[in-house]
Amino acid sequence: MSVENVPDPTLLGADSAIIAVERTAICGSDLHLYHGEIGGQGIHLGHEFVGTIVETGPDVRRVKKGDRVLVSAVVGCGHCDPCLARDPVLCTGGGPRVFGTTLEFHGGQAEFCAVPAADSCCLAIPDNVSLEQSVLLTDILPTGYTGAMNANIKPGSTVAVFGLGPVGVFALQTAMLYGPSRILAIDRVPERLARAAALGAEPIDASDGQAVARILDATKGRGVDSAIEAVGADATITDAILSVAAGGTISVIGVNMNMEFPYPMPLAFMKRLTLKAALVSVPATWDHLVPLIANGKLQPEEVFTHRLPLSQAADGYRIFDKREDGVLKVLLDPSE
Ligand SMILES: [Zn+2]
Ligand SMILES: [Zn+2]
Repeated sequence: MSVENVPDPTLLGADSAIIAVERTAICGSDLHLYHGEIGGQGIHLGHEFVGTIVETGPDVRRVKKGDRVLVSAVVGCGHCDPCLARDPVLCTGGGPRVFGTTLEFHGGQAEFCAVPAADSCCLAIPDNVSLEQSVLLTDILPTGYTGAMNANIKPGSTVAVFGLGPVGVFALQTAMLYGPSRILAIDRVPERLARAAALGAEPIDASDGQAVARILDATKGRGVDSAIEAVGADATITDAILSVAAGGTISVIGVNMNMEFPYPMPLAFMKRLTLKAALVSVPATWDHLVPLIANGKLQPEEVFTHRLPLSQAADGYRIFDKREDGVLKVLLDPSE
């Protein structure tokens, strides 16, 4: 990780805009690139960013120069039917892309970023939503919410959330909107378990590898109705599958790159399990999440534990990767 001077970006087409970035965050999924598991050398990272539009192409209509906008981490062509319905994951015009994950598509951990299909991936930031709150609407709050949405949570039911990083915390908080009677919160880190307990969940310490047994204990052997997996590791996805009751739903939002994940077919068959794994269609969530923030029902900015100038991004990555200093989420400010 290094911070370098590069040429300013130029418009990517008539529907494109240039954003002067005001805040950007480091994501858990950036660590896959940091470790070279995906991507390659020389990628301009960053898919969580907000800022002011400084230039637009002639076809941009819904946002304009001078608007302060948040930008969806996931963007489609902007013109096909799914994109027009704010569902870029189903884009038929080239498929969804995530900023800052390939050499060709530069990200927003930068002073300026070029955004394609600006009308579909930018949202003008409402007055009563802060910059820090807006950054969290570009990916991880929508991702956590997608985990809850796909978990088929019914009023009075029992939910388990695996992984209590920022995305898991958001999954937990948005799961509560569906009215479950209990949420079991699983992690190995004591501070994370304490935070979940403070939010009203029942902490389950997984540090000895016995999470499934504890969940079955806590549910009289039945298992939970819904499990949300916010880690992306084979082990936690397997634990989630083993923790749900017959007829239950597993909702995976952690990033897992294993093409040969061992799904226990006999169990899925005999217990009629449903597994959903989904990349988030960020813009589809804004109508739900923006009012929750604007009216004070959600305070997502509480996840930011570290705020650094962009020039110190390398330190930010190191701290985040090594989980130093109680870090949960790192915010970077390009103006400093
Ligand atoms: Zn992210
Ligand atoms: Zn499209």
